[in-house]
Amino acid sequence: MKAAADSYDQMGRSSVSISHPYAKVLRSGIYDQEHSSYHHLRGCPIRMRTAPTPPLQVLPSPPFTMAAATISTIITLPNLPKVIHIRADDPGAQYHPLFSLPDADVVLRSLQGTLYRVHSFTLRMTSGFFETMFSLPQPKTHRPRRDNLDTTKTEAYPDALDVYENDFPLERLLRLISGLPVPRWETMDEIERVLSLAEKWDTPGPIASIRSALNSHRFLHDHPLRCYALATHFGWKQEAKLASTHTLTLNLYDSAHSSIIDRLSSKDLLLLLNLHRRRRDMFRELLNSPERFAAGNSSPYHCNRCGVTELDNHTWRVFKSAMFVEMERRPLGDTLGLTVGEAAGWPEAIACWEAQCTKEGCGGLNYDRIATLRQIRACISLLPLTIED
Ligand SMILES: [Zn+2]
Repeated sequence: MKAAADSYDQMGRSSVSISHPYAKVLRSGIYDQEHSSYHHLRGCPIRMRTAPTPPLQVLPSPPFTMAAATISTIITLPNLPKVIHIRADDPGAQYHPLFSLPDADVVLRSLQGTLYRVHSFTLRMTSGFFETMFSLPQPKTHRPRRDNLDTTKTEAYPDALDVYENDFPLERLLRLISGLPVPRWETMDEIERVLSLAEKWDTPGPIASIRSALNSHRFLHDHPLRCYALATHFGWKQEAKLASTHTLTLNLYDSAHSSIIDRLSSKDLLLLLNLHRRRRDMFRELLNSPERFAAGNSSPYHCNRCGVTELDNHTWRVFKSAMFVEMERRPLGDTLGLTVGEAAGWPEAIACWEAQCTKEGCGGLNYDRIATLRQIRACISLLPLTIED
């Protein structure tokens, strides 16, 4: 494989394009916040930029004598689009305050132009991506032509590596691999963006660290489906099971969830749909059981008070239908079987509890409300709570 090639422009300036396949990922794997998507380095689709992107630019490395927090001319091929030129007098080029130690030997540059000085040793030890990249022949052996090149600035400043990443995920990931404190995760977007980059750079340490955030009740409660999508994507069984339980508050067929559903593999989606379906089917079966609900489901069943009238179970059947619909909407079933709350006030429920024996002078209630509600709750407690192994 041709690992690197020197190029020179009309001014005799040089740039080196690394042709390692990961370099393509480095510049093309742009996180798409609008769709909250993340990309998998191996196998999964990577959202490509619509416009062609320039090759990764790595400069010939001068002796490292960086002192000032500015960078000299970043040498690039001038006819390539989307190449950021940062010059010594560029006021926008500055180092991130946490990553400006002068003895660090690699400078990474974000899409916003922020510079991050990092030890190559740190990158190599924590990232499979950089380990591979640094194992390639380094461009230091390809020196620019000195005769017509102004080297005063390039000798004074180090290489800058365009990583085509935004500041936020870049800073967070560099904090993680450098052992610096990491602020609390505020949103799922934050987690997804940093995980995306951590995966792209193959950094198992940060990925393991971020994994624990998926056990946070806050994220599980607010974004169960996104937690499930992340957990299944990374093959985290326990987190996926926990998240699957929290998805039981959702109707997966609601179009509001389609963008996240689309991110699931068919296998993981099927596991989740099966859990929801098993709960509904089991609940229906239990609710139709004559052993559990003798008065409503046995036929014939006679009035408990007079022992004469055969019960008309119409109201119980209507109430059961309403509960089935509720389980479709919210398979957790936590709204059912309660003496208070919205479901307790349903007309179907009230009609059921008010149904009486039709025999003149009897007036016995068809059903024991408290015992029936308790039995409904018992049925719900028997339903499966997580996806199957
Ligand atoms: Zn009666």
